Amino acid sequence: MATPLIDAFGRSITYLRLSVTDRCDLRCVYCMKARPEFLPKSELLTLEELTHVADAFIRRGVSKIRITGGEPLVRRDILTLIENLGARIGSTGLEEVCLTTNATQLPRFAKQIAAAGIKRINVSLDTLDPDRFDRLTRGGRLSDTLDGIEAAAAAGLKIKINTVALKSGNADELDHLVSWSHRHGHDITFIEVMPVGDVGFDRADQFLPLSAVRERFEQIWTLNDLPDRTGGPARYVRVEETGGRVGFITPLTENFCAGCNRVRLTCTGQLYMCLGQSGRVDLRTALREGGPEALDQALDEAMRAKPEAHDFDVSPGAAPAVPRTMAHTGG
Ligand code: SAM
Ligand code: SF4
Repeated sequence: MATPLIDAFGRSITYLRLSVTDRCDLRCVYCMKARPEFLPKSELLTLEELTHVADAFIRRGVSKIRITGGEPLVRRDILTLIENLGARIGSTGLEEVCLTTNATQLPRFAKQIAAAGIKRINVSLDTLDPDRFDRLTRGGRLSDTLDGIEAAAAAGLKIKINTVALKSGNADELDHLVSWSHRHGHDITFIEVMPVGDVGFDRADQFLPLSAVRERFEQIWTLNDLPDRTGGPARYVRVEETGGRVGFITPLTENFCAGCNRVRLTCTGQLYMCLGQSGRVDLRTALREGGPEALDQALDEAMRAKPEAHDFDVSPGAAPAVPRTMAHTGG
């Protein structure tokens, strides 16, 4: 293996989040504006280029790749990329390819995704109420996501539910989401809303600290802390009464940057070393104009430039930490 990716703070980078599109068939209120301006398709890396970049990371020791977006499954021919990356599992240092999706397209794709070697997917689901789902996603249908989850489970994919905790959006049904997820055999992770991109709302009106959510759960269930970190920022508990796991991702109330092991590539080939900072390295130019050697040098530059931490602020009236939305960077 070539030189491993280690940043200036000694953190080993072994996890790449690969955004394949900024487009989506939903418009979640915390993620994007009602009428987002999407990038021209001509600016996107081709699937072949995405594979080349992924290979450069794998050579440098990346063992996990998550395909994300936007909604990754709305990109045309996305299965080709999933199959290409799936084929690298085991034969290279790549150990796992995962997917984060809103599940609407899974009835079409779940079987092929499982056949490509993907074992686990994250599905975003913020409510089990159809009207609320329509409101929070600005026009989505809950049944589409539930059908997708069912198709994925039938295909043998292990599913983790991701839920963004929203003060005025779903705060009153988070325990219900836990019960539902565990009844269906899925773990669930809650995420604090992050102030990335202008989505047309003050983040202070959306932000719900997960410390309050946990306190509420402790009134209902016995929560036993688990040591599992699964290489990510979530802290897990097991709910004694249901047997299932609940994760908490707390970028605001409990910073976890010291253990950060990831970088994010946008669909246009820009590598962001931190979700909440603007520094980036242009891998598209490196790839197109310089080839593999230039790509390697660009990765070295990225390691030198990876910041120590984000500085998110969700106080009333605070500006977004960065102008780009989560769908742009790849959540
Ligand atoms: N469309 C796919 C989905 O929704 O799962 C993948 C992309 S989406 C940007 C990835 C994750 O980011 C989702 O779980 C979503 O809930 C989360 N997300 C989006 N905007 C966020 C924000 N401002 N703060 C926290 N999480 C956010
Ligand atoms: Fe689309 Fe995912 Fe963003 Fe919702 S969170 S708008 S599903 S990209």
